[in-house]
Amino acid sequence: MPDRAGLTAAISKPRVVALPGDGIGPEVTAAALEVLARVGDFEVEAHPIGGAAIDEHGVALTDETLEGCRIADAILLGAVGGPKWDSTDPAAPRPEQGLLGLRKGLGLYANLRPVRPSPALLDASPLRRERIEATDLMVVRELTGGIYFGERGRTGAGAAFDTCAYSVPEIERIAEVAFRSARRRVTSVDKANVLETSRLWRETVERFAGDRRRAARGEGADPREDDVELEHMLVDNAAMQLISRPHDFDVILTENMFGDILSDEAAMLTGSIGMLPSASLGVTDAPGVFEPVHGSAPDIAGTGRANPLATIGSVAMMLRFGLDRPAEAEGVERAIDEALADGLRTPDLGGDATTAEATAAVIERL
Ligand code: NAD
Repeated sequence: MPDRAGLTAAISKPRVVALPGDGIGPEVTAAALEVLARVGDFEVEAHPIGGAAIDEHGVALTDETLEGCRIADAILLGAVGGPKWDSTDPAAPRPEQGLLGLRKGLGLYANLRPVRPSPALLDASPLRRERIEATDLMVVRELTGGIYFGERGRTGAGAAFDTCAYSVPEIERIAEVAFRSARRRVTSVDKANVLETSRLWRETVERFAGDRRRAARGEGADPREDDVELEHMLVDNAAMQLISRPHDFDVILTENMFGDILSDEAAMLTGSIGMLPSASLGVTDAPGVFEPVHGSAPDIAGTGRANPLATIGSVAMMLRFGLDRPAEAEGVERAIDEALADGLRTPDLGGDATTAEATAAVIERL
Protein backbone atom coordinates (compact mmCIF):
# COMPACT_ATOMS: atom_id res chain seq x y z
CA MET A 1 0.00 0.00 0.00
CA PRO A 2 1.22 3.50 -0.78
CA ASP A 3 2.71 4.69 2.52
CA ARG A 4 4.43 1.47 3.37
CA ALA A 5 5.57 0.87 -0.22
CA GLY A 6 6.85 4.42 -0.58
CA LEU A 7 8.86 4.03 2.58
CA THR A 8 10.18 0.62 1.58
CA ALA A 9 11.14 1.82 -1.89
CA ALA A 10 13.14 4.62 -0.31
CA ILE A 11 15.19 2.32 1.87
CA SER A 12 15.47 -0.96 -0.02
CA LYS A 13 14.32 -3.00 -2.96
CA PRO A 14 10.61 -3.87 -2.75
CA ARG A 15 10.09 -7.49 -1.70
CA VAL A 16 7.73 -9.54 -3.81
CA VAL A 17 6.66 -13.05 -2.84
CA ALA A 18 5.74 -15.27 -5.80
CA LEU A 19 3.33 -18.15 -5.19
CA PRO A 20 3.20 -19.97 -8.55
CA GLY A 21 0.89 -22.81 -7.45
CA ASP A 22 -0.27 -25.56 -9.80
CA GLY A 23 -1.12 -26.32 -13.43
CA ILE A 24 -0.44 -23.28 -15.61
CA GLY A 25 0.20 -21.23 -12.42
CA PRO A 26 4.01 -21.63 -12.60
CA GLU A 27 4.01 -20.90 -16.37
CA VAL A 28 2.07 -17.64 -16.17
CA THR A 29 3.85 -16.56 -12.98
CA ALA A 30 7.26 -17.03 -14.62
CA ALA A 31 6.05 -14.92 -17.56
CA ALA A 32 4.81 -12.15 -15.24
CA LEU A 33 8.06 -12.16 -13.24
CA GLU A 34 10.01 -11.68 -16.48
CA VAL A 35 7.95 -8.56 -17.13
CA LEU A 36 8.42 -7.37 -13.55
CA ALA A 37 12.19 -7.79 -13.84
CA ARG A 38 12.15 -5.52 -16.91
CA VAL A 39 10.18 -2.86 -15.05
CA GLY A 40 12.56 -2.45 -12.11
CA ASP A 41 14.70 -3.98 -9.44
CA PHE A 42 12.69 -6.18 -7.08
CA GLU A 43 13.66 -8.84 -4.61
CA VAL A 44 11.62 -11.91 -5.49
CA GLU A 45 11.19 -14.95 -3.26
CA ALA A 46 9.09 -17.97 -4.32
CA HIS A 47 7.11 -20.38 -2.15
CA PRO A 48 4.86 -23.33 -3.03
CA ILE A 49 1.11 -23.00 -2.47
CA GLY A 50 -1.89 -25.26 -3.13
CA GLY A 51 -1.22 -28.73 -4.54
CA ALA A 52 2.50 -28.02 -4.86
CA ALA A 53 2.68 -27.24 -1.13
CA ILE A 54 0.61 -30.33 -0.29
CA ASP A 55 3.11 -32.48 -2.23
CA GLU A 56 6.07 -30.85 -0.54
CA HIS A 57 4.80 -30.19 2.99
CA GLY A 58 1.44 -31.95 3.42
CA VAL A 59 -0.49 -28.66 3.75
CA ALA A 60 -1.66 -26.12 1.15
CA LEU A 61 -0.07 -23.16 2.96
CA THR A 62 2.77 -23.51 5.45
CA ASP A 63 3.33 -21.12 8.36
CA GLU A 64 6.66 -20.22 6.83
CA THR A 65 5.04 -19.19 3.54
CA LEU A 66 2.40 -17.13 5.33
CA GLU A 67 5.11 -15.44 7.41
CA GLY A 68 7.12 -14.71 4.23
CA CYS A 69 3.98 -13.14 2.73
CA ARG A 70 3.29 -11.04 5.83
CA ILE A 71 6.63 -9.29 5.59
CA ALA A 72 6.53 -8.82 1.81
CA ASP A 73 5.46 -5.64 0.02
CA ALA A 74 3.26 -7.53 -2.44
CA ILE A 75 2.35 -11.07 -3.43
CA LEU A 76 1.98 -12.44 -6.95
CA LEU A 77 -0.08 -15.62 -7.15
CA GLY A 78 -0.56 -18.00 -10.09
CA ALA A 79 -3.39 -20.48 -9.53
CA VAL A 80 -4.00 -23.57 -7.44
CA GLY A 81 -5.74 -26.91 -7.87
CA GLY A 82 -5.96 -29.84 -10.24
CA PRO A 83 -7.27 -33.40 -10.55
CA LYS A 84 -4.27 -34.79 -8.68
CA TRP A 85 -5.56 -33.29 -5.42
CA ASP A 86 -9.30 -33.84 -5.96
CA SER A 87 -10.50 -36.09 -3.19
CA THR A 88 -13.78 -37.05 -1.57
CA ASP A 89 -12.04 -37.54 1.78
CA PRO A 90 -13.10 -34.51 3.89
CA ALA A 91 -9.91 -34.85 5.98
CA ALA A 92 -7.56 -34.65 2.97
CA PRO A 93 -5.81 -31.28 2.46
CA ARG A 94 -7.19 -29.31 -0.50
CA PRO A 95 -5.35 -26.78 -2.69
CA GLU A 96 -7.99 -24.00 -2.19
CA GLN A 97 -7.19 -24.03 1.52
CA GLY A 98 -4.01 -22.22 0.50
CA LEU A 99 -6.00 -19.31 -0.97
CA LEU A 100 -8.45 -19.08 1.92
CA GLY A 101 -5.63 -19.28 4.46
CA LEU A 102 -3.81 -16.49 2.68
CA ARG A 103 -6.89 -14.23 2.53
CA LYS A 104 -7.68 -14.88 6.17
CA GLY A 105 -4.07 -14.69 7.36
CA LEU A 106 -3.49 -11.33 5.64
CA GLY A 107 -6.96 -9.91 6.36
CA LEU A 108 -7.67 -9.28 2.66
CA TYR A 109 -11.19 -7.83 2.71
CA ALA A 110 -11.27 -6.04 -0.65
CA ASN A 111 -11.24 -7.71 -4.04
CA LEU A 112 -10.70 -5.45 -7.04
CA ARG A 113 -11.42 -6.61 -10.58
CA PRO A 114 -10.96 -4.11 -13.37
CA VAL A 115 -12.91 -4.72 -16.58
CA ARG A 116 -11.36 -2.85 -19.46
CA PRO A 117 -11.69 -4.64 -22.79
CA SER A 118 -8.54 -4.09 -24.81
CA PRO A 119 -9.45 -2.09 -27.96
CA ALA A 120 -7.97 -4.84 -30.14
CA LEU A 121 -10.27 -7.44 -28.56
CA LEU A 122 -13.60 -5.63 -28.82
CA ASP A 123 -14.82 -8.19 -31.32
CA ALA A 124 -13.89 -11.12 -29.05
CA SER A 125 -16.68 -10.24 -26.59
CA PRO A 126 -20.06 -11.98 -26.80
CA LEU A 127 -21.56 -8.46 -26.75
CA ARG A 128 -21.61 -6.17 -29.77
CA ARG A 129 -18.64 -3.83 -30.11
CA GLU A 130 -20.74 -0.67 -29.69
CA ARG A 131 -22.12 -1.98 -26.39
CA ILE A 132 -18.72 -2.48 -24.77
CA GLU A 133 -16.61 0.19 -26.43
CA ALA A 134 -15.27 2.66 -23.83
CA THR A 135 -15.98 0.27 -20.95
CA ASP A 136 -13.51 0.87 -18.12
CA LEU A 137 -14.97 -0.22 -14.82
CA MET A 138 -13.84 -1.78 -11.58
CA VAL A 139 -15.78 -4.15 -9.36
CA VAL A 140 -14.87 -3.64 -5.68
CA ARG A 141 -16.17 -6.67 -3.81
CA GLU A 142 -16.22 -7.17 -0.04
CA LEU A 143 -14.35 -10.44 0.48
CA THR A 144 -14.47 -11.55 4.11
CA GLY A 145 -18.05 -10.95 5.30
CA GLY A 146 -21.66 -11.61 4.34
CA ILE A 147 -23.42 -14.87 3.66
CA TYR A 148 -20.24 -16.81 2.73
CA PHE A 149 -18.96 -16.37 6.27
CA GLY A 150 -22.23 -16.36 8.27
CA GLU A 151 -23.65 -19.06 10.45
CA ARG A 152 -25.14 -21.96 8.48
CA GLY A 153 -26.57 -25.36 9.12
CA ARG A 154 -29.35 -27.89 8.80
CA THR A 155 -32.41 -27.79 11.00
CA GLY A 156 -34.00 -31.18 11.26
CA ALA A 157 -35.44 -32.92 8.25
CA GLY A 158 -35.17 -31.20 4.91
CA ALA A 159 -34.33 -27.62 5.98
CA ALA A 160 -31.13 -25.58 5.89
CA PHE A 161 -30.11 -21.97 6.52
CA ASP A 162 -27.30 -19.52 5.73
CA THR A 163 -27.07 -16.16 7.46
CA CYS A 164 -25.83 -12.87 6.05
CA ALA A 165 -24.35 -10.40 8.52
CA TYR A 166 -22.47 -7.12 8.04
CA SER A 167 -21.23 -4.52 10.51
CA VAL A 168 -20.79 -0.78 9.98
CA PRO A 169 -16.94 -0.91 10.17
CA GLU A 170 -16.86 -3.72 7.58
CA ILE A 171 -18.98 -1.63 5.20
CA GLU A 172 -17.04 1.57 5.83
CA ARG A 173 -13.65 0.07 5.08
CA ILE A 174 -14.74 -1.41 1.75
CA ALA A 175 -16.52 1.86 0.85
CA GLU A 176 -13.22 3.64 1.47
CA VAL A 177 -11.45 1.36 -1.05
CA ALA A 178 -14.20 1.98 -3.62
CA PHE A 179 -14.09 5.76 -3.28
CA ARG A 180 -10.31 5.75 -3.46
CA SER A 181 -10.45 3.76 -6.71
CA ALA A 182 -13.18 5.89 -8.33
CA ARG A 183 -12.65 8.69 -10.81
CA ARG A 184 -16.22 9.93 -11.22
CA ARG A 185 -18.83 7.66 -9.64
CA VAL A 186 -19.35 4.86 -7.14
CA THR A 187 -22.36 2.65 -7.84
CA SER A 188 -23.20 0.88 -4.61
CA VAL A 189 -25.12 -2.31 -5.34
CA ASP A 190 -27.45 -3.91 -2.79
CA LYS A 191 -30.90 -5.40 -2.32
CA ALA A 192 -32.18 -2.76 0.09
CA ASN A 193 -35.83 -3.31 -0.88
CA VAL A 194 -35.64 -6.76 0.77
CA LEU A 195 -32.56 -7.34 2.94
CA GLU A 196 -31.79 -5.69 6.28
CA THR A 197 -28.02 -6.03 5.71
CA SER A 198 -28.53 -4.15 2.44
CA ARG A 199 -30.39 -1.34 4.22
CA LEU A 200 -27.50 -1.01 6.67
CA TRP A 201 -25.12 -1.14 3.68
CA ARG A 202 -26.94 1.68 1.87
CA GLU A 203 -27.22 3.85 5.01
CA THR A 204 -23.53 3.39 5.85
CA VAL A 205 -22.25 4.04 2.33
CA GLU A 206 -24.45 7.17 2.12
CA ARG A 207 -23.08 8.48 5.43
CA PHE A 208 -19.52 7.60 4.45
CA ALA A 209 -19.86 9.50 1.16
CA GLY A 210 -21.34 12.53 2.95
CA ASP A 211 -18.51 12.63 5.50
CA ARG A 212 -15.98 12.30 2.71
CA ARG A 213 -17.55 15.13 0.72
CA ARG A 214 -17.55 17.41 3.78
CA ALA A 215 -13.93 16.51 4.55
CA ALA A 216 -12.93 17.28 0.95
CA ARG A 217 -14.35 20.79 1.32
CA GLY A 218 -12.39 21.39 4.52
CA GLU A 219 -9.17 23.31 4.83
CA GLY A 220 -6.11 21.69 3.24
CA ALA A 221 -8.21 18.90 1.75
CA ASP A 222 -8.02 17.42 -1.73
CA PRO A 223 -11.00 18.92 -3.60
CA ARG A 224 -10.84 16.16 -6.23
CA GLU A 225 -12.28 13.83 -3.60
CA ASP A 226 -15.45 15.89 -3.79
CA ASP A 227 -15.94 14.99 -7.47
CA VAL A 228 -16.87 11.35 -6.92
CA GLU A 229 -20.64 10.92 -6.92
CA LEU A 230 -22.55 8.10 -5.30
CA GLU A 231 -25.52 6.22 -6.71
CA HIS A 232 -27.34 3.18 -5.34
CA MET A 233 -28.63 0.36 -7.51
CA LEU A 234 -30.52 -2.83 -6.74
CA VAL A 235 -28.53 -5.91 -7.65
CA ASP A 236 -31.07 -7.29 -10.15
CA ASN A 237 -31.09 -3.98 -11.99
CA ALA A 238 -27.26 -3.82 -11.86
CA ALA A 239 -27.06 -7.24 -13.51
CA MET A 240 -29.11 -5.88 -16.44
CA GLN A 241 -27.35 -2.52 -16.68
CA LEU A 242 -23.93 -4.21 -16.76
CA ILE A 243 -24.89 -5.83 -20.03
CA SER A 244 -26.91 -3.01 -21.55
CA ARG A 245 -24.65 -0.03 -20.75
CA PRO A 246 -21.36 -1.20 -19.19
CA HIS A 247 -19.52 1.97 -20.27
CA ASP A 248 -21.63 4.05 -17.85
CA PHE A 249 -20.09 2.37 -14.78
CA ASP A 250 -16.95 3.54 -13.05
CA VAL A 251 -16.65 1.69 -9.70
CA ILE A 252 -19.20 -0.91 -8.59
CA LEU A 253 -19.10 -1.34 -4.81
CA THR A 254 -20.83 -4.39 -3.45
CA GLU A 255 -20.97 -7.13 -0.83
CA ASN A 256 -19.43 -10.56 -1.07
CA MET A 257 -22.01 -12.72 -2.84
CA PHE A 258 -23.36 -10.01 -5.18
CA GLY A 259 -19.74 -9.14 -6.05
CA ASP A 260 -18.92 -12.76 -6.77
CA ILE A 261 -21.72 -12.99 -9.30
CA LEU A 262 -21.46 -9.51 -10.85
CA SER A 263 -17.69 -9.68 -11.29
CA ASP A 264 -17.99 -12.91 -13.28
CA GLU A 265 -20.74 -11.36 -15.36
CA ALA A 266 -18.61 -8.27 -15.99
CA ALA A 267 -15.63 -10.49 -16.83
CA MET A 268 -17.45 -11.86 -19.86
CA LEU A 269 -17.38 -8.39 -21.40
CA THR A 270 -13.69 -8.77 -22.15
CA GLY A 271 -13.84 -12.00 -24.12
CA SER A 272 -11.43 -14.43 -22.46
CA ILE A 273 -10.77 -15.51 -18.91
CA GLY A 274 -7.08 -15.50 -19.82
CA MET A 275 -7.18 -11.68 -19.84
CA LEU A 276 -8.48 -10.81 -16.38
CA PRO A 277 -6.29 -9.61 -13.51
CA SER A 278 -7.36 -9.03 -9.90
CA ALA A 279 -6.13 -7.61 -6.63
CA SER A 280 -7.07 -8.47 -3.07
CA LEU A 281 -6.21 -5.81 -0.53
CA GLY A 282 -6.33 -5.60 3.24
CA VAL A 283 -5.52 -3.02 5.88
CA THR A 284 -2.99 -0.36 4.93
CA ASP A 285 -0.07 -2.21 6.42
CA ALA A 286 -0.76 -5.64 4.90
CA PRO A 287 0.58 -6.63 1.49
CA GLY A 288 -1.97 -7.24 -1.27
CA VAL A 289 -2.31 -10.41 -3.33
CA PHE A 290 -2.33 -9.96 -7.11
CA GLU A 291 -3.50 -12.84 -9.29
CA PRO A 292 -5.26 -13.77 -12.51
CA VAL A 293 -8.96 -14.53 -12.22
CA HIS A 294 -8.58 -17.89 -14.01
CA GLY A 295 -7.74 -21.23 -12.41
CA SER A 296 -4.89 -23.67 -12.98
CA ALA A 297 -6.25 -24.87 -16.36
CA PRO A 298 -4.98 -28.48 -16.03
CA ASP A 299 -6.26 -29.19 -19.56
CA ILE A 300 -3.52 -27.03 -21.11
CA ALA A 301 -0.82 -27.13 -18.39
CA GLY A 302 2.61 -27.97 -19.77
CA THR A 303 1.65 -27.28 -23.40
CA GLY A 304 2.99 -23.71 -23.52
CA ARG A 305 -0.45 -22.51 -24.65
CA ALA A 306 -1.47 -20.55 -21.53
CA ASN A 307 -2.29 -16.89 -22.01
CA PRO A 308 -0.04 -14.99 -19.55
CA LEU A 309 -1.77 -11.61 -20.02
CA ALA A 310 -4.05 -11.90 -16.97
CA THR A 311 -1.02 -12.48 -14.75
CA ILE A 312 0.99 -9.77 -16.49
CA GLY A 313 -2.05 -7.49 -15.95
CA SER A 314 -1.92 -8.52 -12.29
CA VAL A 315 1.68 -7.27 -12.19
CA ALA A 316 0.34 -3.91 -13.42
CA MET A 317 -2.21 -3.94 -10.56
CA MET A 318 0.58 -4.85 -8.14
CA LEU A 319 2.63 -1.89 -9.34
CA ARG A 320 -0.36 0.45 -8.96
CA PHE A 321 -2.03 -0.76 -5.76
CA GLY A 322 0.75 -2.66 -4.00
CA LEU A 323 3.98 -0.84 -4.80
CA ASP A 324 2.77 2.70 -5.51
CA ARG A 325 4.26 2.85 -9.00
CA PRO A 326 1.36 4.04 -11.16
CA ALA A 327 3.52 5.13 -14.11
CA GLU A 328 5.08 1.68 -14.43
CA ALA A 329 1.63 0.11 -14.09
CA GLU A 330 0.39 2.16 -17.03
CA GLY A 331 3.47 1.20 -19.00
CA VAL A 332 2.71 -2.50 -18.58
CA GLU A 333 -0.96 -2.04 -19.50
CA ARG A 334 0.00 -0.02 -22.57
CA ALA A 335 2.48 -2.72 -23.64
CA ILE A 336 -0.27 -5.36 -23.37
CA ASP A 337 -2.67 -3.25 -25.46
CA GLU A 338 -0.01 -2.54 -28.08
CA ALA A 339 0.97 -6.21 -28.39
CA LEU A 340 -2.71 -7.11 -28.91
CA ALA A 341 -3.17 -4.26 -31.39
CA ASP A 342 -0.19 -5.62 -33.34
CA GLY A 343 -1.95 -8.96 -33.62
CA LEU A 344 -0.78 -10.99 -30.61
CA ARG A 345 -3.30 -13.81 -30.04
CA THR A 346 -2.82 -16.84 -27.80
CA PRO A 347 -5.01 -19.91 -28.56
CA ASP A 348 -7.79 -18.78 -26.14
CA LEU A 349 -8.10 -15.64 -28.29
CA GLY A 350 -8.18 -17.60 -31.53
CA GLY A 351 -4.47 -17.41 -32.40
CA ASP A 352 -1.43 -19.64 -32.00
CA ALA A 353 1.05 -17.55 -29.96
CA THR A 354 2.73 -19.47 -27.14
CA THR A 355 3.11 -18.24 -23.56
CA ALA A 356 6.76 -17.39 -24.29
CA GLU A 357 5.89 -15.48 -27.49
CA ALA A 358 3.15 -13.52 -25.74
CA THR A 359 5.53 -12.60 -22.91
CA ALA A 360 8.24 -11.52 -25.35
CA ALA A 361 5.70 -9.42 -27.28
CA VAL A 362 4.79 -7.48 -24.12
CA ILE A 363 8.41 -7.06 -23.01
CA GLU A 364 9.42 -5.73 -26.45
CA ARG A 365 6.85 -2.96 -26.10
CA LEU A 366 7.63 -1.92 -22.53
P1 NAD B 1 -9.85 -22.69 -15.17
O1 NAD B 1 -9.98 -21.21 -15.10
O2 NAD B 1 -8.62 -23.29 -14.70
O3 NAD B 1 -10.09 -23.14 -16.69
C1 NAD B 1 -11.31 -22.92 -17.40
C2 NAD B 1 -11.03 -22.95 -18.91
O4 NAD B 1 -10.32 -21.77 -19.27
C3 NAD B 1 -10.13 -24.13 -19.33
O5 NAD B 1 -10.54 -24.58 -20.58
C4 NAD B 1 -8.75 -23.52 -19.42
O6 NAD B 1 -7.90 -24.15 -20.34
C5 NAD B 1 -9.07 -22.08 -19.83
N1 NAD B 1 -8.08 -21.14 -19.31
C6 NAD B 1 -7.97 -20.71 -18.03
N2 NAD B 1 -6.94 -19.87 -17.91
C7 NAD B 1 -6.39 -19.77 -19.12
C8 NAD B 1 -5.27 -19.05 -19.65
N3 NAD B 1 -4.51 -18.26 -18.87
N4 NAD B 1 -4.97 -19.19 -20.94
C9 NAD B 1 -5.71 -19.97 -21.74
N5 NAD B 1 -6.78 -20.67 -21.33
C10 NAD B 1 -7.11 -20.57 -20.02
O7 NAD B 1 -11.12 -23.27 -14.37
P2 NAD B 1 -11.51 -24.78 -14.05
O8 NAD B 1 -11.16 -25.65 -15.21
O9 NAD B 1 -12.88 -24.72 -13.55
O10 NAD B 1 -10.57 -25.18 -12.82
C11 NAD B 1 -9.34 -25.88 -12.94
C12 NAD B 1 -8.69 -25.93 -11.58
O11 NAD B 1 -8.38 -24.61 -11.16
C13 NAD B 1 -9.58 -26.52 -10.49
O12 NAD B 1 -8.78 -27.34 -9.67
C14 NAD B 1 -10.10 -25.32 -9.75
O13 NAD B 1 -10.39 -25.62 -8.41
C15 NAD B 1 -8.92 -24.39 -9.87
N6 NAD B 1 -9.24 -22.96 -9.74
C16 NAD B 1 -8.34 -22.20 -9.08
C17 NAD B 1 -8.52 -20.83 -8.98
C18 NAD B 1 -7.47 -20.00 -8.29
O14 NAD B 1 -6.40 -20.51 -8.01
N7 NAD B 1 -7.71 -18.74 -8.00
C19 NAD B 1 -9.64 -20.23 -9.56
C20 NAD B 1 -10.55 -21.03 -10.26
C21 NAD B 1 -10.34 -22.40 -10.36
